[in-house]
Formats: sequence, structure tokens, C-alpha cells
Amino acid sequence: MAKYVPDVSTNRWVIVAEGRSKRPSEAKPENVNKICVFCPGFEKIPGEELYRIGSGAPYEKGWQVRVIKNKYPITDFHEVIIHSPDDKLDLFDLPANHVELVIKAYRDRFVANSQNGHVIIFNNVGDIAGASINHPHSQLVVVPKQITLDSLSIQPIENVVLENANFVLFCPNFSQWPFEVWIAPKKTGEFFGQIEEGAISHLAQILQDALNRLLLHLSGEHPHTHPGMPMVAFKDGPDYNFYIHHGKDWYLRIIPRLVHRAGFELGTGLSVNIIDPQDAADVLREETPK
Ligand SMILES: [Zn+2]
Repeated sequence: MAKYVPDVSTNRWVIVAEGRSKRPSEAKPENVNKICVFCPGFEKIPGEELYRIGSGAPYEKGWQVRVIKNKYPITDFHEVIIHSPDDKLDLFDLPANHVELVIKAYRDRFVANSQNGHVIIFNNVGDIAGASINHPHSQLVVVPKQITLDSLSIQPIENVVLENANFVLFCPNFSQWPFEVWIAPKKTGEFFGQIEEGAISHLAQILQDALNRLLLHLSGEHPHTHPGMPMVAFKDGPDYNFYIHHGKDWYLRIIPRLVHRAGFELGTGLSVNIIDPQDAADVLREETPK
């Protein structure tokens, strides 16, 4: 059971969840040859099945996207959204129509959980970002409504990288991390769960495009730079988080993990961003994925 602890002077909370420590860390080198319980054929092992897209009976093969309960939950409602049966392909290299299925699963699980509290959907890729199982997956955690969340509201749309019929990709002036990028719906005042069927493919497209631009730029293979702009790159393959804001006026925020937070930032709550978001937008506009 998760325990919620408030601090003495503000509205911040801590979740104490000791069960989390028991989760396996597949990312360790000694575990490379172990079976992957998120792969087809092992459906009965990892946890209660809640949802699937594709064919096949629950706990059988045939699924394309599968959602299960997290065995090592942060809170009472914690789900794992397995992106595809493929152990290697992630959102940036899956076929576009499969990324749509993942977004559909996000939407359906967001809606299914809305009455339980604040619904946060997030994705961790790479070591620094905190991924513990390599098979590409996202997670959904529900936090009770009475717990205040210390999260950002939608920022003004500035430094636009690109847009499509329903969404804008931009680098807000209030960027706390180098190369963080936000995707905002053009339709305002809605929760993520209200996304229209017709907009899902546009979200899939802009998300995949955003990830590919970041990967292209931050892999160091194809870096457009500006004079005087610091060079930043992933140390060991893709390392990023994204999350979907739980509240009204939702947005999807992608944070590449290129730097560590240090003493000054921990002690003040102030972020020091070594990349001007305006420069980030300029170079990302120039990085054109295949
Ligand atoms: Zn797998």
C-alpha cells in the first residue's frame, strides 16, 4: 500500500512505496539473456491483463498493444502499457499506424481510470530516464484527487518547431531541461481523455516526428548547430522521459536526459538550462527525419 506524506509548509507530497524496490532491473548486464516477460508467449507471468488491442484471448498471444497491472506499483492503480509484441522497436521506429494504437490505448486507459483520481501516463527510455525493463512500454499511475500535484500548466506556445492539423510541437521559453519539447493540442480546455478519434493519428505522427528529430540531433550523427551553442548528446543511446499532463489543457512533454540536476537546483528549485529553447527549436526545425 502506498503511503502519502505531506511536507510541513507547502502542498507537496511524498509517496512512500517500499514495494517498488522489489522490481527487477533487467537493464543490468547480467540479465541480458533472461526471458522477457513482456514478450508474446509469457502473457501469464507478469500481471493481471486489463486491456488489449489485437486478437487472441486474454493471456494468449495475438495482441498488438497490451495493458497489465504493474506488479510493483507506485500507487493503488498502476498499469503497464506494452507498446507492441516487438522487444526492440519503440515509438520512434514502430510503423506510424502502430504508434496510433499505442495512443488509443493511452486514451482508453486514461478514460477508464479518470474516476479514480489524477491519471498520469509516462514513458521512460534509457538508464538515466529510469527504465528498468527493456521491452518498450509506458506506464499509467493514478494519484488520489486530494493529493496536490506539483506539475506545470500548459506554457505559452513559442518557438514552434512544426505543426499539423491538430497539434503544435514547440520549445517553451519556460524550459527546465535542454531540448525539452512540448506537444499541445490546438483545441484548448480539454483533458487528454477527450482527444477525438480523428486526432489520434495526428498525435501519433507529431510524437514520432518529435522523437526522431531529438534522436537525430542528440545522437550526434546529424547535428545542425548554432554558433556558440553548447554541444549536448546522449551518452549511450536514447535516454528520455515523456509524460502526458493529467489535467485540463493537457500537453505531452518530452524531456531528453542529457544533464543531471545538481546541488544548486536541488536546494533552490530553480532550473538552470544550458540550451536556449529558441536555439533548440531552430535546430530541431532543421533536423528532418527520414
Ligand atoms: Zn520482450
